[in-house]
Amino acid sequence: MLEAVITQLKETGNATAEELERILTDDSCDTFLFDAAAEVKRRIYGDTVFVRGIIEFSNYCRCACAYCGIARGNTDLPRYRMQPEELIAEGVEAAKVYRTVILQSGEDTFYTAQMLGQIVSEIKSRQDCAITLSIGARSEEEYRVLRAAGADRFLIKHETADAALYEALHGEPPDNRLRCQRDLRELGYELGSGFMIGLPGQTAQIIAQDLLLLQEMRVDMAGIGPFIPHDGTPLAGCAHGDARMTCKAVALARLLLPRCHLPSTTALNVKGGMADALRCGANVIMQKATPFAYRKLYDIYPGRDAQDLPLREQYERLREQLGMMGMEIE
Ligand code: SAH
Repeated sequence: MLEAVITQLKETGNATAEELERILTDDSCDTFLFDAAAEVKRRIYGDTVFVRGIIEFSNYCRCACAYCGIARGNTDLPRYRMQPEELIAEGVEAAKVYRTVILQSGEDTFYTAQMLGQIVSEIKSRQDCAITLSIGARSEEEYRVLRAAGADRFLIKHETADAALYEALHGEPPDNRLRCQRDLRELGYELGSGFMIGLPGQTAQIIAQDLLLLQEMRVDMAGIGPFIPHDGTPLAGCAHGDARMTCKAVALARLLLPRCHLPSTTALNVKGGMADALRCGANVIMQKATPFAYRKLYDIYPGRDAQDLPLREQYERLREQLGMMGMEIE
């Protein structure tokens, strides 16, 4: 029965919320689901994996997201921000290794849109690359300035599609975050969204809504990762998001949005899930390109301290690792 539902989803790219919820809660067909997602991914992307380099350039944040370790309430955390010249230099180095560089930060108002725009255009003028911004909510006008300066893509996850849960975690309704996504779309950015698995209070019904929201927003990219509790937040001590449930959500996203770029999120990699995610529909890997001195301070969630290797070496190691899995980098 469930196999028939999955097959239909694979063939049509559509499912109802109830069907998605059933697939999420019934584990009897997981292998069938993962195989279906892997097949759809292979049909579209073959054995090619897209690799991105991410520079986390500031951990200052004006927000108070209950799950996030760099939220303003974590007063124990030393704060850093890279100056424009440093960020440009690091961005150029990262762009020499990665074709796409993601610039991510807390919501740090130190950087005006003009400053960030200059940083983007300077990096792109020195080294051919695509630039993704992940800097949180801004006005439509600011997004326009950044787009004009050459920013290609923007990553801003909806985090959870349940309005009440969103408000409980953020102290404000999701409306502005969704407004941002719509503005970015209109301005011609490639849009990245996503959500967390295992947030306290989240149900399978909500995950089904999360998946349908990705489809409704026609996102080009979706980062789906497990929630990892951080000691310096109000959610310290809560249960961890489940890696298998995360893989199921990634697989369903692949079936609902066949062409969507789906990273094996860094949060899932923390749980050792990179290979699993690639086997169930993910096609993108993000690697840290943040200067070593700042990596520990970009403490969104614990356990992110992978080995600090020079970028080129880190990239080559990944190439080898993927090669052993029969995959190659774009
Ligand atoms: N400030 C930017 C970048 C956010 S950090 C923005 O607001 O968009 C990138 C992502 O990390 C978030 O979108 C969130 O989904 C994820 N994240 C934050 N805290 C987390 C936690 N404790 N566990 C797992 N993922 C987390």
